[in-house]
Amino acid sequence: MEYDLVVVGAGSGGLAAVQRAASYGAKCAVIESGPLGGTCVNVGCVPKKVMWFGASVAHTVSHDAESYGFTIPDSTFTFDKLKRSRDDYVSGINGRYADALENAGIDLYLGHARMSGPNTVDIDGKTLSSTHTLIATGGRPIVPNNVTGADLGITSDGFFKLETLPGKVVVAGSGYIAVELAGMLNAFGSEVHMLVRKQSVLRRFDSTIRNLLTEQLISDGIKIHIETEAQVISRNSDHTLNISCDTGLELEGVDEFLWAVGREPNIDSLRLDLTGVELDSHGFIPVDAYQNTNVANVYAVGDVTGCVALTPVAVAAGRRLMDRVFGGKAGRKLDFDNIATVVFSHPPIATIGLTEEDARAQFGDDVKVYQAKFKPMYYAFSSHPKRTAVKLITHGANEKIIGCHVIGHGADEMMQGFAVAIRIGANKSDFDDTVAIHPTSAEELVTLR
Ligand code: FAD
Ligand code: NDP
Repeated sequence: MEYDLVVVGAGSGGLAAVQRAASYGAKCAVIESGPLGGTCVNVGCVPKKVMWFGASVAHTVSHDAESYGFTIPDSTFTFDKLKRSRDDYVSGINGRYADALENAGIDLYLGHARMSGPNTVDIDGKTLSSTHTLIATGGRPIVPNNVTGADLGITSDGFFKLETLPGKVVVAGSGYIAVELAGMLNAFGSEVHMLVRKQSVLRRFDSTIRNLLTEQLISDGIKIHIETEAQVISRNSDHTLNISCDTGLELEGVDEFLWAVGREPNIDSLRLDLTGVELDSHGFIPVDAYQNTNVANVYAVGDVTGCVALTPVAVAAGRRLMDRVFGGKAGRKLDFDNIATVVFSHPPIATIGLTEEDARAQFGDDVKVYQAKFKPMYYAFSSHPKRTAVKLITHGANEKIIGCHVIGHGADEMMQGFAVAIRIGANKSDFDDTVAIHPTSAEELVTLR
């Protein structure tokens, strides 16, 4: 079969790209070895957010509802009921994606793709040829190979397969996934231990945010073991696990050990060697600002490129690439500066731009910081209040906003609008001149002194 475009991987980046290309009239195919939607839809953002909402309900029921006048006699939580609803929701999305491809006239091939040349792909005995090829094969969780019994642990993929709530969980890692999944498990009622390799969770986040998060995780009951790594994981006869750590810490009777220590690219058995596409030292596919690999007409987007691993980044890069290749929009590319992101912790974190530490390293004394910490009104009636922190980092005489960081109730829904303002170059005075919405937590960002 001959195509204008063949896309390998129907995840966030691949689907967005192939649909954009088809909208310009290109004859397109997409190949997928798993369920449609990739990581985000099946084992990432979507099921994670469902679980986060569930955990938020747990917080409301156990800490807040009573002071708001509700009597909740039996707040029994049934993990597998939530899992079933979540799985049904995800299946619905898979089905809608299949329909969307069909309606757009895009050929879908289900199976594992192998490259046989720069612009030829083999799938189940068929060879697809194309003028343009996009690699969007994403990534998968890392399981370290230097820990005895590492395979006894699960990863975020395994978390989404759990049918019952584990009683006692050890989470290794300190990034997005570790923080998010530890928080959810804790909210549902698991005893949660985090093994943090360095001194803090979310080490690259602004210190104000990560310190407040750490306080909150501890006050929620999560046991954080800093500068601690698992060395040996062993299975007991009752199927529980024992974890021996490099500090001498021993955790016994553990139901699940969860690796959340980063992700690696999906390039195994893709036979990229037959295309001439070069890889970096971690196996990611390096691309230029236009998503070009080193081979003409072979592109890559999303997690497989080792870029900022977020769904909207993969989507935006894929769409812009196709605008350029098929849409006649020369020069179209994704600007990787000022990408806002949220960590779905409790409370959530939203952030964009430079941290205070990075801003000071870059601009020295030419940085001015505005910040506030407070108890939001929602928690005035809670037995377990969570504080909010907001922080603006400005640079230069005009106080251009180069960083904005929030942890607190509603932060996840707060940042998108501020991201627009920051992207178009807002100064502190633009924030000050904006009339506040009252009473909200967001108003603190336009009233900082
Ligand atoms: P993927 O979505 O991983 O898609 C790649 C696809 O390629 C997969 O479907 C795979 O099966 C397929 N594939 C691989 N090899 C082959 C082959 N040889 N042949 C055929 N098909 C192949 N991002 C956010 O923005 N917000 C969030 O809240 C968020 N939460 C997350 C939570 C978790 C637990 C995880 C793991 C990730 C989360 N992310 C989140 C990150 C986000 O999911 C990824 O950045 C995004 O999915 C990357 O899209 P992609 O298209 O690059 O890859
Ligand atoms: P991250 O890169 O966020 O965090 C992994 C962290 O684990 C590292 O930064 C490192 O922190 C620590 N680590 C690495 N190796 C080890 C080890 N061997 N033992 C113990 N700790 C280790 O990766 P995640 O897997 O959490 O998430 C992958 C990406 O997916 C994220 O970066 C994000 O882009 C995306 N994502 C986005 C979400 C969202 O938008 N809400 C949610 C989930 C994922 P240190 O160096 O400090 O020890």
